[in-house]
Amino acid sequence: MSDLSNFCCQNESCPSYGQRGLGNLSVCDYYGKNKDRRLLYCRICKARFSERKGTSLFNSRLPDEKVESVLNHIQEGCGVRKTARLTKVDKNTVIRYSKLEGKHSKNLHDELVSFSP
Ligand SMILES: [Zn+2]
Repeated sequence: MSDLSNFCCQNESCPSYGQRGLGNLSVCDYYGKNKDRRLLYCRICKARFSERKGTSLFNSRLPDEKVESVLNHIQEGCGVRKTARLTKVDKNTVIRYSKLEGKHSKNLHDELVSFSP
């Protein structure tokens, strides 16, 4: 059995879009030079898409300028939804980065406080 719990439907109009672990996906085909890429099938909306597309949305490796833009929006006080919309980054990714940023800011704050006279 292939583990598809890390994938989600990539059809934005599908009720399961962006939700992982629903068991709605199955491997319907293999493609690529060595047939090592899987083509996934959503049984809810009957869409097919490649597994590469399924991972890119949740890949935390955003381009640097994108990360910076997300962080800037958060620092300016934009909410998660607003930031996600403005930067065209997935909401969950924004949440993840905002948590990281929160931690970082706190460390920075503690450092500054401990060094101030
Ligand atoms: Zn679907």
